[in-house]
Amino acid sequence: AAAQHSPLLKNLNPEQLAAVTAAPEPALILAGAGSGKTRVLTTRIAWLLQTGQVSPAGVMAVTFTNKAAKEMLARLSTMLPFNVRGMWIGTFHGLCNRFLRAHWKLAHLPQAFQILDASDTTSAVKRVIKAMKLDEERFVPKQVGWFIAGCKEDGLRPGDVEVRDDQTRKLVEIYANYEDQCQREGVVDFAELMLRSYELLRDNAAVREHYQHRFRHILVDEFQDTNKLQYAWLKMFCPPGRDQGQSLLAVGDDDQSIYAFRGARVGNMADFEREYRVRKVIKLEQNYRSFGHILDAANELISRNSQRLGKTLRTDAGQGEPIRVFEAPSDFAEAQWLIEEVQSLYRGGMDRQQIAILYRSNAQSRVIESALFNSGIPYRVYGGLRFFERAEVKHALAYLRLLENANDDTSFLRVVNFPTRGIGAKTLETLQDLAKASGRSLYQTVSAVPGKGGANLVAFTNLIDSTRNLTQGLTLREIIEQVLETSGLADFYRTDKDGAERLENLDELVNAAEAFVMQEGFGKNAVGLPVDEVAGPGTPGAVPDAETGEIMSPLVAFLTHASLEAGDNQAQAGQDAVQLMTVHSAKGLEFDAVFITGLEEGLFPHENAMSDHDGLEEERRLMYVAITRARQKLSMSFCQTRMLHGQTRYHIKSRFFDELPEESLKWLTPRNQGFGSGFAREYQAAWERGSGLKGMVGAGRVEKAAWVEPPVPASMKPKVSEEHGGLRVGKGVFHTKFGEGVLLTLEGAGADARAQVNFGRHGTKWLALSVAKLTPID
Ligand code: ATP
Ligand code: MG
Repeated sequence: AAAQHSPLLKNLNPEQLAAVTAAPEPALILAGAGSGKTRVLTTRIAWLLQTGQVSPAGVMAVTFTNKAAKEMLARLSTMLPFNVRGMWIGTFHGLCNRFLRAHWKLAHLPQAFQILDASDTTSAVKRVIKAMKLDEERFVPKQVGWFIAGCKEDGLRPGDVEVRDDQTRKLVEIYANYEDQCQREGVVDFAELMLRSYELLRDNAAVREHYQHRFRHILVDEFQDTNKLQYAWLKMFCPPGRDQGQSLLAVGDDDQSIYAFRGARVGNMADFEREYRVRKVIKLEQNYRSFGHILDAANELISRNSQRLGKTLRTDAGQGEPIRVFEAPSDFAEAQWLIEEVQSLYRGGMDRQQIAILYRSNAQSRVIESALFNSGIPYRVYGGLRFFERAEVKHALAYLRLLENANDDTSFLRVVNFPTRGIGAKTLETLQDLAKASGRSLYQTVSAVPGKGGANLVAFTNLIDSTRNLTQGLTLREIIEQVLETSGLADFYRTDKDGAERLENLDELVNAAEAFVMQEGFGKNAVGLPVDEVAGPGTPGAVPDAETGEIMSPLVAFLTHASLEAGDNQAQAGQDAVQLMTVHSAKGLEFDAVFITGLEEGLFPHENAMSDHDGLEEERRLMYVAITRARQKLSMSFCQTRMLHGQTRYHIKSRFFDELPEESLKWLTPRNQGFGSGFAREYQAAWERGSGLKGMVGAGRVEKAAWVEPPVPASMKPKVSEEHGGLRVGKGVFHTKFGEGVLLTLEGAGADARAQVNFGRHGTKWLALSVAKLTPID
């Protein structure tokens, strides 16, 4: 009873309180956005620890992103008097990594195994395809990578994949060779982290029972987005139908399941309920995040989906402001409008990091970014190239990886000739052939390569070996500084005229390492737990370093951290900067003001998903996630024209506007203007004014503005003609800006007439004949 009066529980509503303090048994919280699911999960961990029902070592919590894990640790450390670092709180991948580090031998991995991030994986697949002499057009490395990841996420090794046709047979062959290559090099990709730990747990009863005994409480956030393998992995730690006093708490919202395209199974929720005989599904219906208009919009939109488990959300916060809707003539105008809105929010006292600009696809960020940049507004983009993915940082990491594991061919190839050491493509090809023939790594094969190239290769491996010797016993920071010098990377960027920024990034790498060591507290047992509880030398099969007893050296730990960070597609908090991200990466987050941009048919809902029912429902869930990120102010925008894939296209507004309650919307531009409205006239007038267009669609756009291609269904394709106002297909034309060209195609009629012209060095362009001044020449 005393536990019920813990200050931790003060601000919870009765349903939340019941969930936090529930008896240890399998439980499912099924509740809508902003209802406090994540808060309940975190508070429950704190409460269990504080009341002494479990020790820090007895808890495992799985979150969807590194950021969520960090936040959870941060919140716990404010709630609890002791250090929570070292607890098993992390993403699926992070926890699997931890597990494999402790059991590397049983998992048949080298102790210092390295993790391939997404781009490493693609280049590793590419090497396999090349070695097999397959056509890269038919077997696109990235797509083959997806195939392999998909197999792994279904728990399938090459031998388990059902082969129905030749294409699949070849893919499986690539998969098998890729596996061999990874094993030889001592590297694992993200999907392998999961599958390998799952298999170890499945096949090794002693290890499995150890962990089942250890983890009394397992908690999983965003359960609706778990895939088949992740669910199977969880079951290894806490098998259903066995009363061991273990408790598994799953938390989720079926309406926020947005990763079906990557194998997530919302059906895991129903399976969980059934297999674990969940007696009561906990529902939370009070939303603490958003004002009424925002919630009304979310509820009304999602009610159109047919496949729902059914939930309601209400708020006591009042209606708040209606949702602002803006129709922009172009993507540039949309960006300009965003700038004005952001500036007025900022002037009104809102922190920039409380403002999020969301988009459906990464490619949309560029225009918005350049507008923000030009207005001097600080911003951060997530999902683009993150720090650990930048080329110079990856080069440095590759050298560091080679110190730990010289057989890592991916890293070897990345830096063997960077900076240049006179090792050409021919030499590397010979090396790769020889290595393949002898089944050894590139590093082990260098001395077999004849000639000058071979000598240079040997010099390279000598460099790696001597650097390894030089760095023995140094701190992580010193190791990195040493490697930057001996590798020649620092010198290379010092003499490179564009190298300044890259040098800064390399300095930043040293800082990141320093911060990492401090944070992880190497040398100290941060949680104050017996060592075997922290990383498992006491568990069957766990192997620490023979000399130092360390489970993971700081360097390996740091390299791992770098790979996992590079794989995290999630936003980070902090800094006084506007937050730009895709809707996918906004999941679980909240902001005072949210802008949902590019709400156009084909973009959001996305064209790939529009044609089928399930795809459209997933898009709608994505829109639901987007809407429910907003606390106070929500805005939506769409454009009449947009540059996509190098073409200006007419767009019409998203169908989602028709699925929102009209009374919750405030149209800033007249509603129902449709495409081809007054805009075309305005456009032309601006063009004729010359500079007017600049103000309208942004600088540097004038020549593109004459080139329009409306998205017409095939059946409505405009008529192609041979002649228009003296212009003839196949004949010469003259344009005041592009000069002379050859007319290739004539389409449409009247105001809609267009011409395709090859202007030689200016390239081939589509021109609107009502705008472009073309004169025939003979
Ligand atoms: P999502 O589905 O988007 O992940 P969620 O259900 O996990 O949302 P939380 O992020 O846990 O929701 O909570 C939403 C917001 O409401 C947070 O700011 C949280 O601190 C706040 N909140 C939750 N419960 C309460 C409460 N009982 N009293 C006050 N604020 C609360
Ligand atoms: Mg949450």
